[in-house]
Amino acid sequence: MAVSTPDQAAIQNAIRAAAHGRYVLGNVRLNGSVTRTGAMQSAGAEFLLADVTVEHGMILTITTSSNAPQSSSSFEGVYIDCAGRVVLPCFVDCHTHLDKGHILPRTPDADGSFGGALAATKADRTANWTAEDVAGRMDFALRSAFHYGTSAIRTHLDSQPPQDDISWPVFMELRQRWRGRIDLQASCLFPIDMARDDAFLDRIARRVATAGGILGAVAYPTPDIDRLLDQMFQAAARHGLNLDFHADETTDPSADGLRRIAEAALRSRFAGKVLVGHCCSLAMQEEAVVDATLDKVAAAGVAVVSLPTCNLYLQDRRNGTTPRWRGVTLLHEMKKRGIPVALASDNTRDPFHSYGDLDMLDTFRLGTRVLHLDHPAGDWIRAVTTTPAEIMGLEGKGSIVEGQPADFILFEGRSWSEVLSRAERNRIVVRQGAPISTSLPSYAELDELEGLALG
Ligand SMILES: [Zn+2]
Repeated sequence: MAVSTPDQAAIQNAIRAAAHGRYVLGNVRLNGSVTRTGAMQSAGAEFLLADVTVEHGMILTITTSSNAPQSSSSFEGVYIDCAGRVVLPCFVDCHTHLDKGHILPRTPDADGSFGGALAATKADRTANWTAEDVAGRMDFALRSAFHYGTSAIRTHLDSQPPQDDISWPVFMELRQRWRGRIDLQASCLFPIDMARDDAFLDRIARRVATAGGILGAVAYPTPDIDRLLDQMFQAAARHGLNLDFHADETTDPSADGLRRIAEAALRSRFAGKVLVGHCCSLAMQEEAVVDATLDKVAAAGVAVVSLPTCNLYLQDRRNGTTPRWRGVTLLHEMKKRGIPVALASDNTRDPFHSYGDLDMLDTFRLGTRVLHLDHPAGDWIRAVTTTPAEIMGLEGKGSIVEGQPADFILFEGRSWSEVLSRAERNRIVVRQGAPISTSLPSYAELDELEGLALG
């Protein structure tokens, strides 16, 4: 017997037509690790066939699949058979650099090395990052992220004066403009040695607090790193801010920023949230050193985000030789200790990473392959949804929950292998019960910005 299954376009049209009232997405595969409802409690981290009833943009109920159109006489609405497709929550991307995104055409001197990226970015920032330039590139990036199904983003903002005066007002305006589509957060970013200047630290902390942002820095190894970290923690406590560090983005096993950040958090009895990105060098250290560090990270309640795209791109790049290690941190070992772990996009089309389009499915696919987030896949999907939402303090985001807005992504694939093997370009992103109808921004739009025209 030939099997007839509805195609993505038909399902999308059916949801669109039904979105004003009540409808049931029947026969969808929900993953127990990112779905909160009684019916899914037995699912653990497995997929379970379910029916999701949506009314006026909210998830009304989630029930185990009835495998048939609703027969109850009390049911009014449309039944849409999804034939076992996977439905996941919208993505949450907790570590990006929207202010750097898409400057690649202006930085021909960047050579794929970390040092080269720093120098090329600094030169471009100094020469070109006007409010118009930053806003244009950030908005372009947000449109891509939204199209792919991301509902919340934290971006770092280079905040060396005078750039802070330009980028923070742009961020605040974009956050307002994108409200309801993408929850936008920002963390300031500067080399931690700038925290030696009390006046600067106080001024930037004040700016961040006014903007509802996060206090962040690159925790480079410096002789007085512990004192500088203490100053960052004190400034955060004074202004009621959470913290977000870049640390140990290097092969050098002597880089121990993650341990020092955890120690500083414990010393200060810091009550806020702390997120640390990269932590690459941890993977190059002795087992006993790793254990001691992770004990402290767990005790301090510090969360870690791995950035596989940039780590693969920047780490172990040596003049024309083949890279021998993957550059990523010890995510499995962290997770086993109960440390909250996330994956995020980091840089896109800039000197730190030549590629990327803020598609978190792409990031999760790469993360799965680079970090072996499989056999079993378990609840690793939380690393791009529920866990970063918790890290960002966004209650209800990154999960599928009864009584919450119907925000989710309906994929064509019916298993992890199917979802993670194709680009899923025809995934259906549903926001507040209705499919979004955006297209990706055209690269040619960037030609309008100073120096980005490809000619
Ligand atoms: Zn970063």
